[in-house]
Amino acid sequence: MPGMSLLDACGRPLRNLRLSVTDRCNLRCEYCMPEENYVWLPREDLLHFEEISLLVDVFIGLGVDKLRITGGEPLLRRDLPTLVKMVADKPGLADLAMTTNGILLADSVDALKAAGIRRVTVSLDTLRPERFVALARFNELERVRKGIAAASRAFGELKIDTVVIRGVNDDELVDLIDYGRSVNAEVRFIEYMDVGGATHWSPERVLSRQEMVARLAAHYGGVEAVPATSSAPADRYRLADGTVFGIISSTTEPFCRDCDRSRLTADGMWYLCLYAVRGTDLRAALRDGASRTELERIVTDAWQARTDRGAEIRLALGDRRAFVPLRSLRQDPHLEMHTRGG
Ligand code: SAM
Ligand code: SF4
Ligand code: SF4
Repeated sequence: MPGMSLLDACGRPLRNLRLSVTDRCNLRCEYCMPEENYVWLPREDLLHFEEISLLVDVFIGLGVDKLRITGGEPLLRRDLPTLVKMVADKPGLADLAMTTNGILLADSVDALKAAGIRRVTVSLDTLRPERFVALARFNELERVRKGIAAASRAFGELKIDTVVIRGVNDDELVDLIDYGRSVNAEVRFIEYMDVGGATHWSPERVLSRQEMVARLAAHYGGVEAVPATSSAPADRYRLADGTVFGIISSTTEPFCRDCDRSRLTADGMWYLCLYAVRGTDLRAALRDGASRTELERIVTDAWQARTDRGAEIRLALGDRRAFVPLRSLRQDPHLEMHTRGG
């Protein structure tokens, strides 16, 4: 029954699923994985492709029509194109995208496109090699740029996501927009969020949407707001030459009221919000032999009871610091952003 509209307790439909295929990563971005050591999900807990495919059927049956593959770094998952092929042609799926750090993209983009990935977003926070190493701990900027070039060639266009941190990369907004233009990428600036994993977060390090717009308007001589056409989280703006960029103001102006997304971790825990501290263990249900109807019931009940609006609640707090202390992240790695998939 594709397209059925399941609403949560605030009237928000279940539409978007972010599917994390691994919690491992080949970078250590300071806003996501700043620590020296991590507790990884046990390998035997990772969902097999058949299990993921079955859960995707359940979600599509309940209204999900947009799927985004993420991680950790999704390209570290072996045989990813095989999984993509298994889900790409499912009736009812309108969009199949992937978010990646781009390091391994040049070698895999053609196979992923052939398998059915329709859009790619590459995360890139700086164009300066020494800054890239300081931010992400590995000297990989060149490979990321090659990955972006390959995606641009394969798909004709792409998105670039940049987490902006005051005093770290906030002097590169213009350079990144200009670079995006050269590779046919729409750049989206993301406000630094105090999610699990962001243990170095502080309010002073957030550059707000308002400040970004003011700086860019001053440089380019004005920016024009582009009217929203979907529930996508980015506010979009156009420069005089037609270049479009976006800003995702998750920290200072959250958009929970329209939030239709949920997250499935690589080991089958389903989270209704980036800030949710508890999830639903769909792996356990699957491996206990739950039927498709039983899985649909579990998902339906959880979504219908959903009242999550984590970022709005965080904003109302006033005195804010990192959302999850390190010891809690160690006790439950599901709280980590790299496990949830962003
Ligand atoms: N490894 C892939 C990548 O970096 O694109 C996919 C997973 S990553 C967790 C997904 C997205 O989450 C990235 O675009 C990343 O920039 C974003 N992210 C991680 N931590 C964040 C934070 N503290 N604030 C805002 N965005 C964050
Ligand atoms: Fe960076 Fe993505 Fe890896 Fe997090 S998961 S450390 S954002 S590359
Ligand atoms: Fe959705 Fe939670 Fe993010 Fe709000 S904080 S937009 S409810 S995931």
